[in-house]
Amino acid sequence: MSLSLFSLEGKIALVTGSGQGIGLAMAEGLSEAGAHVVLNGRDRAKLETAARAIATAGRKVSIAAFDVTDHAAVEAGVAAIESETGPIDILINNAGMQKRAPFTEFPVDDWHQVVATNLHSVFYVTQAVTRRMVPRGRGKIVNIGSVMSELGRPTIVPYTATKGAVKMMTRGLAAELGKHNIQTNAIGPGYIVTELNKALIADETFSSWVKSRTPSGRWGETRELVGAAIFLSSAASDYVNGHLLMVDGGLTAVV
Ligand code: NDP
Repeated sequence: MSLSLFSLEGKIALVTGSGQGIGLAMAEGLSEAGAHVVLNGRDRAKLETAARAIATAGRKVSIAAFDVTDHAAVEAGVAAIESETGPIDILINNAGMQKRAPFTEFPVDDWHQVVATNLHSVFYVTQAVTRRMVPRGRGKIVNIGSVMSELGRPTIVPYTATKGAVKMMTRGLAAELGKHNIQTNAIGPGYIVTELNKALIADETFSSWVKSRTPSGRWGETRELVGAAIFLSSAASDYVNGHLLMVDGGLTAVV
């Protein structure tokens, strides 16, 4: 047993939605573990700022700006990474969004946007990447689920539907791609301090509810997702397949 099991030296990792928040923290963590990280998002300026910080620390980084809900853009983006940077060894499907509204008033356009961003994107990017991983006979897929892969909460029914589907997609991919030495797992973050939760963090009642509901008694920080991301991207998890690893301060462990 050795720490080199967790080394990502020589690996290329694509992290979707990595210009900020959880995606950026995981990309920074993977690069510290030795990977050449490819940052993705729609805002090129944001990606350039993030990439500069990683490069300044002496680590390898590239940018692939495309919209993960656009099938043609995903196909072109993944092809460009493979030809310009090299074979993708690790894919982290992190890009995501949330919309809140009572279910009976939930705008249908918002439903489509949430499903496209959190679920269709996972199909598009994973298919483009695994089509190339299968002949190579190796790869790691890490999907970002949520505590909402396991629980229901009011006003976020579409988000919960997509995150539940991401959990089952993880299992289906594990079942199908395991024989090609491709491991597919998921991470289920609890309530993490990011832009996505800005309004909820500012809401004292909601924020207190999060703290009282979570056994750890606090919100999580983006850096606290890094260990799970490195583990599921590395040789340390070669016999872990189809698993949803909760990083939620114990939230889903209690009723
Ligand atoms: P943020 O809103 O901070 O970041 C979301 C990222 O996704 C941004 O970088 C955004 O970049 C990118 N993104 C959104 N839509 C697209 C798109 N169509 N194409 C490409 N990139 C896109 O969110 P978090 O960091 O909080 O969330 C990251 C993931 O973690 C999500 O899947 C979320 O559901 C999940 N999660 C978060 C939790 C939390 O408490 N924060 C809890 C559980 C799960 P840009 O806008 O520049 O394109």
